[in-house]
Amino acid sequence: METERLSETHQMLRNTIEDFTRKEVASIASKMDQEDYFPRELFRKMGKMGFLGITVPEEYGGAGMDYTAQAIITEAIAHESASLALSYAAHSNLCLDNMFRNGTGEILEDVVPKLCSGEYIGSLAMTEPDSGSDALAMKTHAEPQGKEFLLSGTKTLITNAPYSDAFLVYARTGDSYSAFVVKSTDRGFSRGDKFSKMGMRGSPTGTIYFDEVRLGTERILGKIGDGKNIMLSGLNSERIILAYLFLGVARKALEMALAYSTQRKQSGKQLHEFQLIQEKLAYMYIKYKTSRLLVDEALQKVTANPMDALAAASAVLHASESSEYIAREAIQIHGGYGYVKDFGVERLLRDAILGQIGGGTTEIRKHIVSSNLIKRYKRDNAIP
Ligand SMILES: Cc1cc2nc3c(=O)[nH]c(=O)nc-3n(C[C@H](O)[C@H](O)[C@H](O)COP(=O)(O)OP(=O)(O)OC[C@H]3O[C@@H](n4cnc5c(N)ncnc54)[C@H](O)[C@@H]3O)c2cc1C
Repeated sequence: METERLSETHQMLRNTIEDFTRKEVASIASKMDQEDYFPRELFRKMGKMGFLGITVPEEYGGAGMDYTAQAIITEAIAHESASLALSYAAHSNLCLDNMFRNGTGEILEDVVPKLCSGEYIGSLAMTEPDSGSDALAMKTHAEPQGKEFLLSGTKTLITNAPYSDAFLVYARTGDSYSAFVVKSTDRGFSRGDKFSKMGMRGSPTGTIYFDEVRLGTERILGKIGDGKNIMLSGLNSERIILAYLFLGVARKALEMALAYSTQRKQSGKQLHEFQLIQEKLAYMYIKYKTSRLLVDEALQKVTANPMDALAAASAVLHASESSEYIAREAIQIHGGYGYVKDFGVERLLRDAILGQIGGGTTEIRKHIVSSNLIKRYKRDNAIP
């Protein structure tokens, strides 16, 4: 985030998290990628530092800050390890922030504090084998039985699922949708193997199964039938947090390209003296900078109006496309070494590609941007 936009508290947080990621994350980023290693213990450390429950009030074990703070943390972690940032964002924003905003009773008193401290790992479970982009075509369903519900179905491609203790799960309840909290200790819950992925390695992704998992009313978020609204209320902040994640990747790739192009010499010149490399650096910078401006503006807009899908979808679309472009050009600038794992540039591209798929694809984001643009244009006869 542009420093001039940050309050003193946010600047202090940024210094703290950057210090933390330099000490604790930079050294394990390559191991996470190469060994598909998930640093479970780091979540307890992040919990102690207050990073996990950053948007949750202190009385529930959080740090009582805002989405700007969550964005700062996500970008700083992603600058060192995009995969850790993905697991962090899934836990802290997609799962915990949403559970806190809509939970009551046991959820607020037990599950939320444990997610804040890192005792629990959390996931948001929406995607299913037959429903991804068309999330509302889900088959997972919860049937009433007395005062309880029996949850059955399968969720897949779920971040942190191989380790998570608590899941925010969307399910059909008759003609409507509802959101439930499921614990890994619930009878009827089971998980499949961890997927092996091209990028975001170290951020575990997996499938979970519900076989008549019995859920009391205290496990319902909001009330029965609120699922769609709960989903929509969180979607735009999720898009913004993901956009900051991919800004972190883009910043790292641009920094590496600048450093290399001012060190490496060919034909007696530094690489940046070649016009074809200059063109690359210029476009990389402009794409990074426009992403930054768009994402910072979208954060302000979504903070003021959580339903501003135009701002959020535009920001995450541009930031994720840009980070992939910048990472690819950073490899090209590194020549053969860019293709070698030890240099750490190729990891950035493999991680950046997830930006156009996870949390909604580029194609769906284009649809959201365009349809909201037309709606606003028809209403105001002006470009929003
Ligand atoms: C690493 C990783 C982590 C993830 N983490 C989570 C998580 O924590 N929780 C969770 O719930 N999900 C998660 N997902 C799932 C992710 O959100 C979905 O993969 C994504 O929404 C796309 O759904 P799909 O994979 O089923 O693709 P599909 O929906 O089957 O799409 C396939 C292709 O068709 C295109 N397409 C589909 N519909 C349309 C349309 N109407 N118009 C034009 N094109 C269309 C898509 O853009 C895409 O190119 C994760 C995925 C990955 C890879």
